Amino acid sequence: MPDPIIRTRFAPSPTGFLHIGGARTALFSWAYARHFNGTFILRIEDTDVERSTPEAVQGILDGMQWLGLQPDEGPFYQMRRMDRYREVIGQMLKAGTAYHCWSTPAELDAMREAQRARGEKPRYDGRWRPEHRSRLGLVPPDGAQPVVRFRNPDSGDVAWTDLVKGPIAFANAELDDLIIARSDGTPTYNFCVVVDDWDMQITQVIRGDDHVNNTPRQINILRALGAVPPQYGHVPMIHGSDGQKLSKRHGAVSVMQYDEDGFLPEAVINYLARLGWSHGNTEIFSRAELVSWFDGSHLSHSPSQFDTEKLKWLNNHYLKAMTDDALAAMVAPRMDRRGVPVQAPGSPDLAAACGLFKDRAGTLEELADLASMLWIEPAHANPSLAEELAAQLRPEAVPALRTLSERLASCQWDKASIAAAIKEVLSAHSLKMPQLAVPVRLKVFGRAQTPSVDAMLALMSREVVLRRLG
Ligand code: GLU
Repeated sequence: MPDPIIRTRFAPSPTGFLHIGGARTALFSWAYARHFNGTFILRIEDTDVERSTPEAVQGILDGMQWLGLQPDEGPFYQMRRMDRYREVIGQMLKAGTAYHCWSTPAELDAMREAQRARGEKPRYDGRWRPEHRSRLGLVPPDGAQPVVRFRNPDSGDVAWTDLVKGPIAFANAELDDLIIARSDGTPTYNFCVVVDDWDMQITQVIRGDDHVNNTPRQINILRALGAVPPQYGHVPMIHGSDGQKLSKRHGAVSVMQYDEDGFLPEAVINYLARLGWSHGNTEIFSRAELVSWFDGSHLSHSPSQFDTEKLKWLNNHYLKAMTDDALAAMVAPRMDRRGVPVQAPGSPDLAAACGLFKDRAGTLEELADLASMLWIEPAHANPSLAEELAAQLRPEAVPALRTLSERLASCQWDKASIAAAIKEVLSAHSLKMPQLAVPVRLKVFGRAQTPSVDAMLALMSREVVLRRLG
């Protein structure tokens, strides 16, 4: 069977960073389109001119590029589509699905007050609808500019089967006549979304469930326009580990911050996909696998919890899957920023260093921190080195260290030969590994714990090791 024609969109408002929640919405919309060989559209909802900024637009574009979520169409900007919104408003006024309303804010307040006093839900009462207007004898005040309201159906339900939440219904009686154009003529948020989804022939709207209440209004407007509403899928919010909605308090909010912190886009994609979606118990999967499985089913209806440790665990998996050379290329600028002279003559090989430490690193930053120990002078790495050394260096290890220096001065300079030299010294002096290895680590690297000491020493130049042991 050929794939149905699928068109999804990601429609962020550029009022801040591309955050984790937005990125997940983008990912789901992207993966859904890719799964069905459809089209993924990027639309920038920038009509809130007070809060939208070009920096935020750039942040969204950068974040999506970094994540590899390339749109097939767009970015489209709502601010460039104002003529189109006005045109549709004109058509609706003509068709009678929208009407002018001159109610002032004071009048609306009084209306709501009276409704509340009668124990009713406060809402616009439709008094400027053409049929009521003449009945009530309302006359447009001189010089005042009206808003335009959508004529919402009075009765029945507006219902849809949500891709995520299943059947949802709202009673039309609960929805009042929404303002679709302000008195200065500018269209309102819900209206622009509707016209865009219609014009862009969107078939699936996947978005955060903070938009559930907008959906019945949007469906009603689409129907009034003679359009078939798309399918909707409202994904639950992402919470922090404390169960609260994810916010700045929980650490990195911007997707690009994850780049800075040393996460790989593959890991972030893999992690985000599992936040609110599952494929059995599979935790680790590629982008291609995600696309092949992501058909809109298995989306969770409960909020997901963001767990940085799990993200690090996944990131570690992807770091380990990289070649040492590729890792070194990514770690090099991070070493630069730390002032670690990885290019200095006689320096350890950065790729080999990455290979040695990658098992232990959750991020590229952690890897750079760990690998730095091969460059930092022991006394700098550890201000209490002298005390630690005094505590760890048993008297019987002192001559053993001397013998080790002698062996290391003449053995071949590779891991196996260094390991053999250490072994010989241990047996000659009847010592156990930690009794020798811990002082060696402290003297050469300034820390008691490192990856295996032979591998560490082999990465250093013989000269530096002998100087530090001496
Ligand atoms: N612009 C809206 C937002 O950023 C999304 C609208 C939608 O997806 O329909 O929350």
